[in-house]
Amino acid sequence: MLLTRPDSVRPEVEAFTPYTPGLSIDEIQERYGLNQVIKMASNENPLGASPLARAAIERHAAKAFRYPQGGNPRLVAALARHHGVDPARVVVGNGSDELIDLLIRTRAVPGRHNVAAFSPCFSIYALQSRFCGVELRQTRLKEDFAFDCNALLKLVDGETALVFVTTPDNPSGYSPPAAELKKLALALPAACLLVLDEAYMDFADDENAHSLLPELSAFPNIAIIRTFSKSFGLAGLRLGYALLPPRLADYLWRVRLPFSVNILAEEAGLAALSDSAFREESLRVVRQGRETLSRGLRGLGCQVWPSQANFIMFRPPAGSPAARDIFERLLRMGIIIRPLASYGLPDLLRVSMGTAEENRRFLDACTELLHAG
Ligand SMILES: *Cc1c(COP(=O)(O)O)cnc(C)c1O
Repeated sequence: MLLTRPDSVRPEVEAFTPYTPGLSIDEIQERYGLNQVIKMASNENPLGASPLARAAIERHAAKAFRYPQGGNPRLVAALARHHGVDPARVVVGNGSDELIDLLIRTRAVPGRHNVAAFSPCFSIYALQSRFCGVELRQTRLKEDFAFDCNALLKLVDGETALVFVTTPDNPSGYSPPAAELKKLALALPAACLLVLDEAYMDFADDENAHSLLPELSAFPNIAIIRTFSKSFGLAGLRLGYALLPPRLADYLWRVRLPFSVNILAEEAGLAALSDSAFREESLRVVRQGRETLSRGLRGLGCQVWPSQANFIMFRPPAGSPAARDIFERLLRMGIIIRPLASYGLPDLLRVSMGTAEENRRFLDACTELLHAG
């Protein structure tokens, strides 16, 4: 590439389409002149932030002028204790997005190595591979959104640096039994790292039936990514972590920008980890909401996919307005959900679990829209 002008960019950057975030409450209030808007679009915690985390942010606000301690050692120690893993495996980042980006940049040589994932998948895997100049290979999920691990394995060769698998999956909520992932890990070439993105794993009915985290030390080629954005209710503070083979963890620490986890995120994360009452209540509200919304939407004739996450994916019944129209009409009624066109699924919708009251208002609105025909 020739440097022709002072504002020219790499070809990967020229071709880049940015991440599409869910709409914000402020945007919709302003656009439709509403004074109350419910957001069920970005899989955030319906109960808000943990009270202990909020208190920690206030308590430490005056420390904002200090740099964080290098390596976030207290947070690393707390996470290692929380999961019963060696602290040498833990890397924390500015959201799990940062860890996904770092894994790609740390492992894959641009123009030579590749990354594999299902299609559709969480868009950050594709975006950061593209930005980095690393080929992303994809294979379709099965018709029912289950994982076709044999097809995934066929994409993999000696140059595959990473395989990304999201479980429970976004946007379907599907999560395979842990045994299936174990088989996948064993079938991959020894030099390929299987990255299990478990952003939603703690919402599963039985975490141990789905997660390989308890057996992590038996698998030298598995990485697990988790986040404080969902069940811990800290999406806006940007805090995620990876459990990695220790040698790889050490390399990620060396290349990570020194202060990407800020002081308030670190204090809030520590407090949220200790707030077991808030977490238990969050998980209870989400599991209950999953039941209520699945039953309610099915009762309205929607097809609803079984979900282990804090959201459900559904298809409006035949003869009802198109998914896009339902999304738009809900917006005008002050309810934001997620259309899935950006995932290549234009006739499907995703809704995050709200509080009992928000769930009821969403179902009432759907009843009105779907019965109106
Ligand atoms: C929400 C989500 C994350 C979390 O991202 P953060 O950067 O930690 O907020 C990671 N992976 C998937 C699949 C997600 O849906």
